[in-house]
Amino acid sequence: MTQRAIVIGGGLAGCGAAYALSKRGWSVDLLEKNSQLASEASGNIAGIVYPHLTTNWIDSTYLYFQGLDYTMQLVDDLRGQGHKIKGEWCGMLQLPREAKDAARLLATPTSLGLDANIVRQVNVAQASELSGLEIQQAGVHIAKGGWLCPPDFCAALASGSNILLNAEVDNLQKIADIWQVHLKNGEVLSAPVVIIANAAAATRFIPQLKLYSVAGQVSLLRAEHSPQLAPLKLVLCHNGYAIPTHDNINCIGATYEREDTGFLSAGQAHRLNLKHLQKFIPTLLDSALEGVTGRLGWRCTRPGNIPLLGQVPEPAGQGYYQKGLYISVAHASRGMLSCPLGGEWIARQIVGEPVDELYDAFSLGKYLRWGRVM
Ligand SMILES: Cc1cc2nc3c(=O)[nH]c(=O)nc-3n(C[C@H](O)[C@H](O)[C@H](O)COP(=O)(O)OP(=O)(O)OC[C@H]3O[C@@H](n4cnc5c(N)ncnc54)[C@H](O)[C@@H]3O)c2cc1C
Repeated sequence: MTQRAIVIGGGLAGCGAAYALSKRGWSVDLLEKNSQLASEASGNIAGIVYPHLTTNWIDSTYLYFQGLDYTMQLVDDLRGQGHKIKGEWCGMLQLPREAKDAARLLATPTSLGLDANIVRQVNVAQASELSGLEIQQAGVHIAKGGWLCPPDFCAALASGSNILLNAEVDNLQKIADIWQVHLKNGEVLSAPVVIIANAAAATRFIPQLKLYSVAGQVSLLRAEHSPQLAPLKLVLCHNGYAIPTHDNINCIGATYEREDTGFLSAGQAHRLNLKHLQKFIPTLLDSALEGVTGRLGWRCTRPGNIPLLGQVPEPAGQGYYQKGLYISVAHASRGMLSCPLGGEWIARQIVGEPVDELYDAFSLGKYLRWGRVM
């Protein structure tokens, strides 16, 4: 008998989970409240695929390096099946955010013991040679990763699912072992398995969750007004990023605006994105903003700034789990790596396949075991 699941949210997290189940033969209803998939955080025309260079190996370092390999392989496979996913594996040059961060950043390839063919410290001359631009700053070159178009990726991941658009879920109810999913339009769908993947709006179903939204504005510079970026050969990452020119656009970003520090106007956000980049490319003129467009999105994050994955515990928090209810949210600034891998881990748990022990580090159950709020 075909197994059935409902996934709530048509961004990278929902599409990643839907893909992992549909490739195992499950029938998946993917519910998105908007009129298209990838219309919120996952809707930028380009996002970077980059690991997390921490001083020591911590759970998130492992997650994002594993996610990097997983996403790259998955995208290659999907492209091999004929899916069009814009982007390239051009690698990346990580530059220090501030002068005071330089020593820490440059030490990471050694302190993490990384393969020098993949991640290595580069001097000013090497940084310039690799990037195609005159960079007056040493940095770290990451030979893997690059950039992708998230909506293309979502479309490919969701292609095996039954996609329901304009389908906003209002509430969930469990009757016997079956989840009833009530839509705002009055429809009710049911399945034994539900995956909540609707970012910060997940508090609608689990009010105890502590989730925050962090605004981010990307700036799309017209190539004719920013010709200094034309030679860029890889992703340049600093306290923002610049992606090599494609479709006559130079995509730069992104602001990181928390409620407590206040939000910027679109004009202020574009000027800030440009200013951050001008620190490394001083020849880039203010006129690069002529005709600029952009997009505002909201990253979902939580205390600790790591994703939340896995089976949802009972609200009382006694260590019992709610049968058939799973979550994948709080993918913050690296959803391109954690959403597909998170979806794969959740699918493995659902079908009873072995899951990487790292999975537990991101589970809600772990927090409850420690007696903490979610
Ligand atoms: C400006 C910006 C730049 C970024 N840059 C990068 C980057 O370079 N690299 C990277 O890896 N990551 C980047 N990210 C982060 C990445 O985009 C996110 O981590 C990822 O998109 C999260 O996916 P998600 O599916 O969890 O959330 P979303 O994409 O927000 O998806 C959640 C979906 O749920 C839907 N939904 C909500 N409530 C309901 C409901 N009740 N019923 C049905 N549907 C519902 C929403 O409409 C939405 O489509 C960036 C984010 C922003 C905002």
